[in-house]
Amino acid sequence: ERKYLIGGNWKSNGTYDENAERIKVFNGLGPIPDNVEVVLCVPYLHIPLCLTSLRDDIEVGGQDCGSNVKDGAYTGEIGAHMLKDIGCTWVIVGHSERREGFGMAGEPEGLCAEKCKVALDKGLKVMFAIGEKKEERESGVTMEVCAKQLEPLAKLLKPEEWANVAIAYEPVWAIGTGLTATPEMAQATHADIRKWMKDNVSEDVAKAIRIQYGGSMKGANAEELLKQPDIDGGLIGGASLKDDFFNVINGVP
Ligand code: 13P
Repeated sequence: ERKYLIGGNWKSNGTYDENAERIKVFNGLGPIPDNVEVVLCVPYLHIPLCLTSLRDDIEVGGQDCGSNVKDGAYTGEIGAHMLKDIGCTWVIVGHSERREGFGMAGEPEGLCAEKCKVALDKGLKVMFAIGEKKEERESGVTMEVCAKQLEPLAKLLKPEEWANVAIAYEPVWAIGTGLTATPEMAQATHADIRKWMKDNVSEDVAKAIRIQYGGSMKGANAEELLKQPDIDGGLIGGASLKDDFFNVINGVP
C-alpha cells in the first residue's frame, strides 16, 4: 500500500515574519491522518525557521538543489549535501518553473535527472516534477513529454533508488491558473506514467512509486483527485500558503 504524500511548495513567497506566522497557523491546526506523509518545501532562507518551529509531523524540504556533489566554487548554489546537513529530508527537483527558467535559461532534462541523482546520493528523498504544457496536451503528446522527462532519470537510477523518489505530475497549464485537471484526466495520465514505469523500470517500482498530482489543487478539489486509484498525493502551491493546506491533507481517503 502506498502512503499518501502531500507536499506544500511555498515557492518564493513570504517575509521571515509572514512565514513564521504561517508556521504558527499550521501548528495550531488538527492532526495529520496516519496514512499521510506531509512535507513543506520552503524558501532556503526559511528552512532553519521551519526546522526549529514547525510541528514535528511535517517534514521540511528544499524547492531545488544544485547539481554539485560537494562544497566548491558554485556561487549561489545550495547543494543537496547542505540541505541534508541542516536537517531537510526532501527536495523538489525539476519543477516546471525551473525547467522553464522564468525568463532565464531553464534547466534541461538531463540536469534535472542529475540533480535528482545527487540528492538521492546525499540521502534526501526527491519529488521529481514532470508535466506537459497546454499546447502539448492539446496536440496529444502529454505522455511523450512526460516520458522524455523521465528517461534520463531512468538511465541514471538503479531500480532500488526509486524507493526514495515520488513523481509529481504537474500539468503546466494547471499551475497557478485555477484550471485543475479533472480527476479523470489526471487519473488517466497517472496511469500512463505508472505504465511507463512498469515498462521502463520494473513492475515492483511501478507498483510502489507514489505519483502526486499538482496544479491548482486545493481543499475544494482534493478529495475527488485523491480518491483516484493512481493519485497518491499532491504537490500544492498557492493553497499551501494558507490553512486550506489542511483541507487538502484531510481530503485523503
Ligand atoms: P499551484 O497549486 O499554485 O497551482 O502550484 C502547483 C505547483 O506548482 C506546486 O509545485
